[in-house]
Amino acid sequence: MNRLENLKKILESSLEKEITKKNITVYGYQYNYQVPFIKSVSPYWFAENVVEEFIAPYNKDSNNNNRPGTIKESTEYITIHDTASAAVTADEYAHAKYVSNGGGGTSWHYSVGSKMACHQIPDNEVAYHAGDGTNDPFTLLPTGVFGNVLNPSIDLKDGFYVINKQITQVKAPLTDQGEITSKAHLNDAGLRIELINGEYYIGKTYFNKTYQKIANRGGNLNSIGIETMVNEGSSLIRTWHRTAKLVAHLLIENNLSVERVKPHHYFSGKDCPMTLRRNHLYDYFMEMVKLEYEILKNFSDIKIKLVSKDEALNQEGIIIGDNFTKTINYQIILEDEKDQLITDYTVLVKL
Ligand SMILES: [Zn+2]
Repeated sequence: MNRLENLKKILESSLEKEITKKNITVYGYQYNYQVPFIKSVSPYWFAENVVEEFIAPYNKDSNNNNRPGTIKESTEYITIHDTASAAVTADEYAHAKYVSNGGGGTSWHYSVGSKMACHQIPDNEVAYHAGDGTNDPFTLLPTGVFGNVLNPSIDLKDGFYVINKQITQVKAPLTDQGEITSKAHLNDAGLRIELINGEYYIGKTYFNKTYQKIANRGGNLNSIGIETMVNEGSSLIRTWHRTAKLVAHLLIENNLSVERVKPHHYFSGKDCPMTLRRNHLYDYFMEMVKLEYEILKNFSDIKIKLVSKDEALNQEGIIIGDNFTKTINYQIILEDEKDQLITDYTVLVKL
């Protein structure tokens, strides 16, 4: 099978046959609002990764304290946030400007909305977004437990971590009340576990008192932070597509696997990105990331184009309108230096 056909097969398996809508709640600190959520024809976004540079000034060149220019020791993660700001005006430009103006001491690398992705802090510099402090960088600790299962079970016993039912030499952090004995205190994105030469290693953790969760280090010092917009009137699906595509590029550029994309929750226990998490859409967002990553990694030389045959579907693969039922026709065109592959598809949209 040639490469165009390979890519066709991958894209085809991602295509929706039938699209419906569900109402979701978008969470803002000012107010919440309801909006219909409608999947696109594919978790793949038929559009380009475009980034606008809005690089914030160094602290030494401003009165700000959110860009010291500290170079990261390593980039381990991509951290996904949402702004939890529902106001119509709380768009990507407003947030990029906020970081450039000092961000109240906070900063993050990208602000992504339905209009654009804005870049504020160079990817190799530390920013302040994850709530895990800046004293403890990401570190891997040897556990003294050996095995060969890639995703082992994790538990706690007598104040120590337990991997695959074997007690490790790594102490879990303490709460104000003392030892943590319940898994209920683990953040729900888990821990960083690596299997190196047959031995398990655990990423350094701490207890976040605000959220009462065991969380991971490396959010501020070792990750690239992305704020996604949830402002009213924006297209959330477009924001999530744009973010997923940007994440795929950042993973490749930093030689990271998809597993290194983490919700803010992983680093502090905070319920962020709140709208994706509370509506059980974080997994769908990660489907977008995985597909974007796979296609970028293996087929970056192939041009991918969607041609819509209906005004209710745009050329990015996004459904326009939220109150109709019909069958929509479209084509996907794949093209490399030698060949072109055009395939017709239909999707039943019931809104
Ligand atoms: Zn966050």
